[in-house]
Amino acid sequence: MINVSFLSGTRADYGKIKPYVEYLLQRQDIKIHLFLTGMQVQSKYGNTHKEIETDFADRCHIVIDNELQESTTADETAHIIKSYSAHLKDDNIDFVFIHGDRSEAMAGALAAVLNNVPVCHIEAGDLSGSIDDSLRHAISKLAHRFFVADERAKSLLMQMGEEEGNIHIVGTSSLANLPTEKMDNIPPVSDNYGILVYHPTTTVSSDTIHGEISQIMQMLEKDTRSYIVVLPNNDLNHQVILDVYEPYQNNPKFQFFKSVPFSAFQHLLKGADVLIGNSSCGVKEAPVLGVNVIDIGIRQQNRYTHLDLPTFHHVDDLGEISKILSDLPQNQSAISHENYREQFFKTLDDIFTDDFWKPALQKKFVFR
Ligand code: UDP
Repeated sequence: MINVSFLSGTRADYGKIKPYVEYLLQRQDIKIHLFLTGMQVQSKYGNTHKEIETDFADRCHIVIDNELQESTTADETAHIIKSYSAHLKDDNIDFVFIHGDRSEAMAGALAAVLNNVPVCHIEAGDLSGSIDDSLRHAISKLAHRFFVADERAKSLLMQMGEEEGNIHIVGTSSLANLPTEKMDNIPPVSDNYGILVYHPTTTVSSDTIHGEISQIMQMLEKDTRSYIVVLPNNDLNHQVILDVYEPYQNNPKFQFFKSVPFSAFQHLLKGADVLIGNSSCGVKEAPVLGVNVIDIGIRQQNRYTHLDLPTFHHVDDLGEISKILSDLPQNQSAISHENYREQFFKTLDDIFTDDFWKPALQKKFVFR
């Protein structure tokens, strides 16, 4: 039996991890452990671990990091290194999957390598902005296997000295999860609505964040649409954003959610006139769903360069937002993702050979 552990520290990684869990659940020789920590286990962020428990409690061993207390990112990182390390030992974990670019993922990768447990890094070699790029590439330095979205990500990892044989191009796993059928239980919305998801950018000042989100809210208040607002993640200065939202709580134009479950969120996104803010779903899921995106600032700076779509609008000057909103192009029809899941699973068939689970623990960096 191979004991495999996935760490999830935020709703933002769940949609990416879920298809891998579903795929591996088909195998009798693998036991899956889901270690939930960070924002996933905090009520302030919507207790999103409940969605995962509903999906997998009867099929996976779920470990909730109960001892985690809200504190600074650095303190949380230190805590997760310890708690994840204990899980790796207690449950005899043989292999770890870590997604993305967050501090929780960094803590998990560090705990794994310090316990000599191999790590596969999902969405390695991606580029974005903020402190996320630094964390993502630091996680890759620790990892032994890499799942990447495209050739660009692969060549970036090779530039960083990784061996080509350890890098697998798999695409964007969250697209293997986009719902294709109509869904019940999504929050009620008005006919014309937009979605705002705005996170703090860790490398800019709190004053800049305050100014930016205040101006965005003033503009959205004047717009003809109503808005679903998803609250920010726990990055530095998130409270600045929450304080700006506070006076709008009873304004009928805005509906605030700590977090919407992944599938329901994709449905909301599909029906929206526009997604505004700086969430990664503006460059990942929204373009596939054909939805207009107004991407603000530098948080996704290096991600949208290849998005040449009439529905994708990047703005640095906030003054442009009202203009774009008043003259939004039609949403495009969604790019067919019906077969994405099937193809994604086929790709995994070729990757998960017996050798995959036993990478060389001593890494070799190749200088090219
Ligand atoms: N997402 C979700 N529910 C929400 C908001 C976002 O499931 O209420 C998903 C979204 O589709 C994407 C991921 O979470 O797959 C990224 O979201 P987020 O904006 O939280 O983080 P980022 O990746 O920008 O750091």
